[in-house]
Amino acid sequence: MTKSLQRLIAAFRKFPGVGPKQAERFAMLVIMSDSNEVREFIQAIESARNSIKLCRFCCDLSEEEICSICSDTGRNRAIICVVEQPQDAAAVEKTGAYNGLYHVLHGAISPIEGVNSGSIKLQNLAERIRKSNGAISEIIIATNPDTEGEMTAMHITRLLKNKVAKITRIAYGVPLGGDIDYIDEMTLRHALNGRISI
Ligand SMILES: [Zn+2]
Repeated sequence: MTKSLQRLIAAFRKFPGVGPKQAERFAMLVIMSDSNEVREFIQAIESARNSIKLCRFCCDLSEEEICSICSDTGRNRAIICVVEQPQDAAAVEKTGAYNGLYHVLHGAISPIEGVNSGSIKLQNLAERIRKSNGAISEIIIATNPDTEGEMTAMHITRLLKNKVAKITRIAYGVPLGGDIDYIDEMTLRHALNGRISI
């Protein structure tokens, strides 16, 4: 195997869930591809990497400084739904049952993996609440229903208690150990509507 092929395989192995065999198949596909296709692929990666940043308010992915949801005046600005990842916000959005704003943490607290409250976008959330001067009336915690998600939910509750009138956690129908973005729309809509105060 040539050095450059090994390098390409090593690059693909960095993707989550990609094992050695799969990385090899990806690399083979690339080297057997038409050079225009490869150029298009490289450009797609570069353009996504260079144009997508984090919204300065909610930390969701955005091509502008403020994302389309935060800049939408038709949204209910008094409610913030807190999720772990951008794809979770997208999943909640897809239910069509939510019209508030989001906050994307980009992770969950996990002592085992060395992720503490300072490594995710929690301070940004606290700062956002502080700057809102009481305009935020509810925080919906929609972190994943697993150990890390629960730990993060508890931390958020402690952090924001007495700073927001109402803190709720989505609960109804969400299977334990599930991932928010894998839950079907109907179940997630029920989970949102059946949220409980904590
Ligand atoms: Zn935003």
